[in-house]
Amino acid sequence: RMWHYTEGIENFAPVWDKHAIRILPGPSSLWFDATGKRLPVPLWPGFDTLGTLEHIMSTGYDYSWFVLTQKIIEKEFALSGSEQNPDLTGKDLKLLAQRLGKGAPAPVEAFKEKGVDFIVRDTLDELLEEMAARSGYVPFDAQTVRAEVRAHDRAITNDFGKDAQLNMVRQARHYKGDKIIRVASPHQFQDPSAGPLIAVKLNILTRKSLGGIHTDLDGRVLDPSGAPIPGLYAAGEATGFGGGGVHGYRALEGTFLGGCLFSGRNAGRSSSTL
Ligand SMILES: Cc1cc2nc3c(=O)[nH]c(=O)nc-3n(C[C@H](O)[C@H](O)[C@H](O)COP(=O)(O)OP(=O)(O)OC[C@H]3O[C@@H](n4cnc5c(N)ncnc54)[C@H](O)[C@@H]3O)c2cc1C
Repeated sequence: RMWHYTEGIENFAPVWDKHAIRILPGPSSLWFDATGKRLPVPLWPGFDTLGTLEHIMSTGYDYSWFVLTQKIIEKEFALSGSEQNPDLTGKDLKLLAQRLGKGAPAPVEAFKEKGVDFIVRDTLDELLEEMAARSGYVPFDAQTVRAEVRAHDRAITNDFGKDAQLNMVRQARHYKGDKIIRVASPHQFQDPSAGPLIAVKLNILTRKSLGGIHTDLDGRVLDPSGAPIPGLYAAGEATGFGGGGVHGYRALEGTFLGGCLFSGRNAGRSSSTL
């Protein structure tokens, strides 16, 4: 078993061979498969990695597209990796405070400028033309993407619209934390003041293997027949991702450390009663 991400971009300054970076996206980008069909509800950015992976691979093509605006990239794009977050890695509060200011964080802006997966254009026609050009032999349907962007822009002016993604974005902004640092205010993609328009070609990125030593809930290591091996315990990632997968196969991001500590506590308690 492997854990993959669906928002992989090629690193323009790789630390190792074939080094990819993951975008940690906010919810406002429109997400299309390689042929230009919008991903089905609820496969919005940042919602269901495994569901989205399954869907993308079922299209027959192993990449997809985000379409967004400058306004969205500034507020909603974060990049995974310590070298992409010098403020956090370096515990630099001054640098961290810049995330609240105008403009995208410098590492995000650098990817926008230099990354091979990014297209930045002033008009939707220009953007679609370049997306089609980069699709090679894949039948990219620019008309469908254009219609989706127009429908999105129409729905912006209607507080009672039926676009589920837009309604969810509005809902997310009810939480102050998200409103301030994570979710852009809804706007028309073709509003020049929100531009330029951006498309990002997203590749499948392989993150880690999920296997590990088989244990029971007390952290006792099990032999191939399922019987505990006397006196042998295991905990944390060694027992499978996030502490033996205690949060399930579709575990949310950020829940791994907790599961590792929890499985360590269980193994410790159980072994101390020996
Ligand atoms: C880049 C990255 C980002 C992550 N982000 C998050 C996040 O945001 N939220 C979250 O919940 N989880 C996150 N995780 C996962 C989380 O960090 C791990 O699940 C957790 O730290 C694993 O803890 P552990 O104690 O099981 O293993 P580890 O922390 O890997 O500890 C194993 C220790 O064993 C030592 N060791 C190995 N071999 C030997 C040996 N032979 N002898 C002695 N010592 C040895 C190693 O040096 C290491 O110190 C992230 C992981 C990575 C890699």
